[in-house]
Amino acid sequence: MPIRCEIVSQDRAVFEGDVDIVVAPGADGELGILPHHAPLLTTLKPGVLRVRQGGRDELFAISGGVMEVRPDIVTVLADAAEAAEEIDISRAEEARRRAEESLRSGVPRNSEVYLAAEAALRRSNLRLQVARRRRGSVPRIDINL
Ligand code: ATP
Repeated sequence: MPIRCEIVSQDRAVFEGDVDIVVAPGADGELGILPHHAPLLTTLKPGVLRVRQGGRDELFAISGGVMEVRPDIVTVLADAAEAAEEIDISRAEEARRRAEESLRSGVPRNSEVYLAAEAALRRSNLRLQVARRRRGSVPRIDINL
């Protein structure tokens, strides 16, 4: 029996469906949620969230948030979340380039600008990692010539 999963970001509903497991980046480590899990409320750190649906894994980049688990439903309220196939790779590369440039610009390490650039760098690297992992997960077709 599956468990319902809903992922909502600040600007939209990102995913909803019945899944076999949710693996989320909990503040204290990865959390695997199966149907009938005990109720739980936890913060999520930026990372990869994975749901398994019909034997297939779907990956999401999550920029932190909270997750509420009830026995029949997992609700994720994320600051930002994108499914792997929605990630615009050039936009993430551009965001990474801007963040790196800002980190190299000589602003003090504890300044708001520096900390914001560090956070932007983490978000862009995460998006690139999720988008590439998805690409890498496409089954290989072996052609025997
Ligand atoms: P950027 O500088 O490119 O806007 P960001 O890290 O500042 O990146 P966020 O503030 O985290 O962006 O997100 C703003 C909105 O844009 C969110 O809805 C997020 O899901 C979306 N978003 C951000 N980067 C990407 C991307 N590379 N591909 C698809 N959607 C993205």
